[in-house]
Amino acid sequence: MTLKLTIHFESAVHHASGFSLAGVVDKGFLRDHNGIPCLSGAALKGRFRDAARHILLADAKDVCESGRKPQACGPPGIERKEYCRICQIFGAPALPARVVFTDAKPEPEAYEVMLAQKRNSASPFHFGATEIRHGTSLDRLRRTVRAEHLFSLETVPPLVAFDAEIRGCIDAADEVLLRECPLLLNSFGAGGSRGLGACRYEMEPETIL
Ligand SMILES: [Zn+2]
Repeated sequence: MTLKLTIHFESAVHHASGFSLAGVVDKGFLRDHNGIPCLSGAALKGRFRDAARHILLADAKDVCESGRKPQACGPPGIERKEYCRICQIFGAPALPARVVFTDAKPEPEAYEVMLAQKRNSASPFHFGATEIRHGTSLDRLRRTVRAEHLFSLETVPPLVAFDAEIRGCIDAADEVLLRECPLLLNSFGAGGSRGLGACRYEMEPETIL
């Protein structure tokens, strides 16, 4: 089974790769094998896991790391007969997940434009698909800017929508739960308090079997 997911951004987004860009930009955006910005499937899965957990908790269902099941699910044993539904769908340390989230890539037309921009750019890493933002670090006590704390961050502008797929072996009830998750999700990436990453998650109604 495959579900198609699109993420529409309403503000610029930053999704850190953990690397700097050529020592020039402190926090680079995650990129795919072609060097085009992408959103990690693992991070998307984490967002969906959290949303699904809240939906089940609102229904007073037993899920781990909640009031009723304070511990995370481990392998079934004396204390626990089976994994909770969240761990069954999204996986646990000793249990493979039933769903896989692919990395989200810019929609095909935007992807082609970015590839062309990259081919025609003089710079190997900054080719027009992203913007560089600068920020400072504030000293709360002195209420001034900290010395030598200017940093830079690479963002993708909000016009770009990203496509991902959710693949796996799940039943109809689990699919209903996954389709409810976007109702609770409205952001992605870092810098939410600075207005970054506001978005809308949209799932296509068709399920590909
Ligand atoms: Zn669990």
